[in-house]
Amino acid sequence: MAEGKIIKVSGPLVVAKGIPDANMYDVVRVSEKKLIGEIIELRGDLASIQVYEDTSGLGPGEPVISMNEPLSVELGPGLIGSIFDGIQRPLDIIRQKTGDFITRGMDIPPISRDKKWKFEAEAKAGMDVVPGDILGSVKETAVVTHKIIVPFGVKGKLKKIKSGEYTVEDVIAVVDDGEKSINVTMLQKSPIRAKRPYAEKLPPKEPLVTGQRVIDTLFPVAKGGAACIPGPFGSGKTVVQHQLAKWADADIVVYIGCGERGNEMTDVLTEMQQLKDPRTGELLIKRTVLIANTSNMPVSAREASVYTGITIAEYLRDMGYAVAVMADSTSRWAEALREMSGRLEEMPGDEGFPAYLSSRIAEFYERTGRVRCLGSDGREGSITAVGAVSPPGGDLSEPVTQNTLRVAKVFWGLDSQLAYGRHFPAINWLQSYSLYSGLLDDFYRKNIAEDWPELRAKTLYLLQREAELAEIVRIVGIDVLSPKERLILEVAKSIREDFLHQIAFDERESYTSLKKQYKILKLVIKFYELAEASIDRGGSINDIFNLTVRLHIAKAKYIPEDQLEKIDSIAVHLEHQIGQLGGLKKNA
Ligand code: ADP
Repeated sequence: MAEGKIIKVSGPLVVAKGIPDANMYDVVRVSEKKLIGEIIELRGDLASIQVYEDTSGLGPGEPVISMNEPLSVELGPGLIGSIFDGIQRPLDIIRQKTGDFITRGMDIPPISRDKKWKFEAEAKAGMDVVPGDILGSVKETAVVTHKIIVPFGVKGKLKKIKSGEYTVEDVIAVVDDGEKSINVTMLQKSPIRAKRPYAEKLPPKEPLVTGQRVIDTLFPVAKGGAACIPGPFGSGKTVVQHQLAKWADADIVVYIGCGERGNEMTDVLTEMQQLKDPRTGELLIKRTVLIANTSNMPVSAREASVYTGITIAEYLRDMGYAVAVMADSTSRWAEALREMSGRLEEMPGDEGFPAYLSSRIAEFYERTGRVRCLGSDGREGSITAVGAVSPPGGDLSEPVTQNTLRVAKVFWGLDSQLAYGRHFPAINWLQSYSLYSGLLDDFYRKNIAEDWPELRAKTLYLLQREAELAEIVRIVGIDVLSPKERLILEVAKSIREDFLHQIAFDERESYTSLKKQYKILKLVIKFYELAEASIDRGGSINDIFNLTVRLHIAKAKYIPEDQLEKIDSIAVHLEHQIGQLGGLKKNA
């Protein structure tokens, strides 16, 4: 095996000389301790290596061995429910073996070699197969069926295939490509920096339903889309990400914790391991892959973690699943890029970030999308990504936010003022946007209600008007407003408090179905329309504001999902009460 020598160590960056056949992004093992590193720059005989483990104690002269292959992830049954670090070491297994601190240079395969899985063959011997074809499946957890697909580069006649109990290294099928026989196992490898191939990219057509009212109704993200969620510290990024990980209607969730504070990651881990999936009643972890960076790993591991996460997501997508990727927070990842770039003495760009920051961010988000997978059955899969960004001081003009917004079509702008006023989720409805909402109108019309897009437009209009009127009130006082304008203020308040405001920790409303979202909002807007008509007839605005049915409107969000007819009764009640007001009284 080829061997070079360390000539310099600078934190996570090691420079080595004389590694034969060194290629960019090849994996190397550094020093006798066999620390894992990746070549990130080559200059003549010198290779700069990003080391993913603590380099303290390393010095010049120690050996560097190239593995002559790019940094890759292992893929196969055993992925789901695992907790990996940035370079796919199985943290839960390591912890069992070594305790809370990871010994350096540990060599434990990400996917168990001993565990046996029940493989059910679906393809039949004698068939012609191409890459992406489904050979069979393994029921990996109660909710995820792991499809075993023909690996890239393998094509020909299926000579042998048999159901049975296998480890991931056992041969489950043999393909004859005309010249030789190729053994197929359930274990695949994919380099993390290259995207996995698919047949065709397709435009998004349905939303990723999250159960979060402000998101689904006002600023939806499409399955296969990308959303950016920037916000200052304490504004609720983590809570939103957790809510999505819990509730989003994805088949599988890949949660990448790129080096946020260690204890937060522990929270996610413990929470996830106990939480039940509302759709299946099973534990959420049974449809989740977690990538976490432990605090004793160098920042460079954060860089690898997003690639590791997205590659695993692509593999699961290739089975035909809708995968949601949460990255929390991509700012930490960008900081890692900045640190390495500084050590490499590259020319800094904006705010010290490397000039290639924008292309790296774009490359990550380009790996999302709805696709027709490889394989002859034409199945579809998707990756939706939600990237949290923590801009220093909440300044959205900083490079990470700006570069993310360039590629993500949804922007959920968290607002410290709203968070301070305890309005959660603190997604600012005036700043946020979704470029998918037009594309998804058809879906909402067909599946929820014909007038969904109009309802949404009206809601946004009222919120916008509220902001304008609030400005007038601030300058000249409420007395100048007409009754109808005062009604707008009242209704906008109701939209904010009775609809947008959603407490993640309240079991009754942590998740709201699309149908219920529609019914609540329809109720609020119905109040607006009926009240407006009543004002036209000369009804008193104070009488309208004092209607007792408004208390029921405010509580509609707590009505259980299986009793939605109660919201319809409130609507009937509302019509009745406003009808009784008549138009006889004068406006107050
Ligand atoms: P960040 O990750 O942006 O620093 P967090 O997600 O940790 O912020 O949120 C800070 C605090 O705000 C949480 O501990 C919680 O008390 C509150 N919070 C945020 N979002 C919600 C929500 N949807 N419902 C209730 N409380 C929330």
